[in-house]
Amino acid sequence: MLNVYLTIDVELWSPGWQLGPDALSNAFDTYILGKTANGNYGLQYQLDIINDAGLTAVCFVEPLFTKAAGTGYLRQIVDICRKRGNEIQLHAHPEWLKHATPDFKGIDFSERYLLSQFSQQEQYQIITAARDILASVTDCKISAFRAGSFAANTATLAALSQAGIALDSSYNPSMPSPDNGFTEECHAANARFRQADVTEIPMTVYKTHNNTLRHSQLAACTFKELRSLLLKSYQAGHSDFVILSHSAELLDGSRRRKDPGNIATLVKLVAFIAANQDKFRCKLFNEIINTDADLPTAKPLVKLGVNYSLHRAVAKITRLIQARF
Ligand SMILES: [Zn+2]
Repeated sequence: MLNVYLTIDVELWSPGWQLGPDALSNAFDTYILGKTANGNYGLQYQLDIINDAGLTAVCFVEPLFTKAAGTGYLRQIVDICRKRGNEIQLHAHPEWLKHATPDFKGIDFSERYLLSQFSQQEQYQIITAARDILASVTDCKISAFRAGSFAANTATLAALSQAGIALDSSYNPSMPSPDNGFTEECHAANARFRQADVTEIPMTVYKTHNNTLRHSQLAACTFKELRSLLLKSYQAGHSDFVILSHSAELLDGSRRRKDPGNIATLVKLVAFIAANQDKFRCKLFNEIINTDADLPTAKPLVKLGVNYSLHRAVAKITRLIQARF
């Protein structure tokens, strides 16, 4: 049985780091509600597709934006996630502290914004600040973390341990940050590992025809790729399959219109997972037994042939052309 985690990084951004009320209201409308002239295609719409298929998502919620916006929007985000039983976990982008509270606990943000650029103690302060904000608006058990931009390192796991957060899902060898302490030499891709009493559940990556690593993200993969990856991972005996999405993943690049291609991919993906429950078990992070000493053994990465890359390229070009008309 392959454990499948449908993870959504729930976050908002304000272009140019404008932090006035109107700019933050627009950011919430776009990145959380997914407002377009023809309806809302944001977090609620995405979760409804997942939940209507009988599945549940893991929402990695970014709370540091409240340093600029207050907790009103965060409460609305938590309500959207919890309405149909989706899980709340913690995501953090220290960029918000850099721009909203540059004097945060005396930490120097002038040259840094990725979590992995900070010391273990500074990471602990950033992570616990984010955790405490999120915990102030929900009584959900926060047991898992994902660093913004996957910028985590070994100090992050130690800081999480210090903060009492037992699970992490930041290891993504397809997006190594410059001072990312996780490397394929130290940790096999796609394989759980434990360090500092924290269990890492890595982002699922795969190899393309030319051995390029890609992560399994809704907007970055075709349904054809995701279906094959799931089946091949199941057949190869992998234990976990972590799929990435974002709260604004179903909008197109303009952020003003829905993205019919990404919506179709999600609809087909959840139907496929739901129809194959003899192979796939959609799970939440709070269901992971993180004290399990017997970690699953690493399995070879799944590789997809050139026809998958060509199909993805054609699909992308088709969507670009359709978006112009
Ligand atoms: Zn993020």
